[in-house]
Formats: sequence, C-alpha cells, structure tokens
Amino acid sequence: MSTNTQDVSLDTESRLRITEIFYSLQGESSFVGLPTVFIRLTGCPLRCGYCDTAYAFSGGEWIQVSDILQQIKQYNATTVCVTGGEPLAQRSCGDLLTQLCDEGYRVSLETSGSLDISQVDSRVSRIMDIKTPASGEESKNKYENIQYLTQNDEVKFVLCNRHDYNWAKEVLNKYQLLNKTQVLFSPVHNGVAPGELADWIVEDRLNVRFQFQLHKYLWNNEPGR
Ligand code: SF4
Repeated sequence: MSTNTQDVSLDTESRLRITEIFYSLQGESSFVGLPTVFIRLTGCPLRCGYCDTAYAFSGGEWIQVSDILQQIKQYNATTVCVTGGEPLAQRSCGDLLTQLCDEGYRVSLETSGSLDISQVDSRVSRIMDIKTPASGEESKNKYENIQYLTQNDEVKFVLCNRHDYNWAKEVLNKYQLLNKTQVLFSPVHNGVAPGELADWIVEDRLNVRFQFQLHKYLWNNEPGR
C-alpha cells in the first residue's frame, strides 16, 4: 500500500482560526509606535466589560501556519504581534509563535492572563493582562503565571477607576511585580481620565509605565487599524 507523504504532512499541519491579519502601528506596551503585523486569533473565554474586540469572539477563518507565514511576508515587517480574543485558547498558538520566532521576527503575544503561559516560546514577549475588579473578570486571573514572567515580558493593568488603581497597587506589592517584569498602567478608553491616572502615578512615585492606547487616538479603534 502506498502512502502519499505530502498529503499526510498537509493533513497534520497546525492551523488556527484567524479573525484578521493586518499591518499598523503598535498602539500599546513598550513596542508602542513600531510598525507591526497583527495576527488576531478568533475566540476568547472571557467577557471583559470594556472589551473592544468582541468581533473576534466568533467567526474567523481556519488558516494553516505556513499560509499565515506566507501572508505576513508581504508587509516586510520585523515585528509581529499575536493577539485576540485570547490567542492561547487555541492549541496551535504555540506552534505559530515558535515558527514566527524561527523566521526571525520580533514577536509579542497579548494574553488575558487567564490561561497558562509557561509553555510559550521564551523568545516571545508575553504582554499579560491582570484583570481588575471593574473588568468583571477578576476571578479569571491565573496568578500562577506570575512566576514565569521575566524582564522580556510585560504585565498590563487596564484601569477603570480609582478603586481599580488602588487594587492594582496592592497586587504590585503582593507579587513584587516590579522586581520581576515591566508593568503597564493603562486607562480604559472613555473611562478614567488619562491625566488623572498620570497624576496618581506621579503622586505615588510608582515605577510603572503609563500608556495610552495609541491606535484609539489615531484611528478610533477601527478593525484592521
Ligand atoms: S480578554 Fe481581551 S478579548 Fe477577551 S473579553 Fe477581555 S478584553 Fe476582550
């Protein structure tokens, strides 16, 4: 009996459900402002009250990893961000991240912090949320992830109000986050005034990085921008 090895390899290749692939400027994290290819994976088990990517909860298109790599070549970019939804909810996300690193891209992963990050390729910068009380998803935080964070990673708090800010300061202290990784404090869009959050950080001499979501100011968060 003959075996067609090419067909077998195609059948077993990793594929992912993708909402969109696009090229823009990175709007967040220490990568802010860098031209970046975004690969947005479909699906998320969380439902944060401020979610701005609900269009990625369902739908999408199954695409093989090799085809994703082929598609992104057209942008001539050096930086790639794998985002969602929650990328780690798809089993093949790890394969995609590793192959992107193997291709020489500088890779970041945006994750909700609710799923295990320990198996992510160490070359990837993990941008991990810690969900605050006002997100409505605080109970989903997987605090075990903190032990895996390095200075190559970043923790992000999206803050909705003063209570969130005070809560985030307690988490910083409890887990000694500033000794482990980079920390981002971001005002939720159309929530706490950015200037107010900036004042709190300065008053408290807090060694965190304040950030805006740049893309919302440039393009009002249109999909694919
Ligand atoms: S984790 Fe991200 S994608 Fe999922 S609901 Fe929250 S904000 Fe939206």
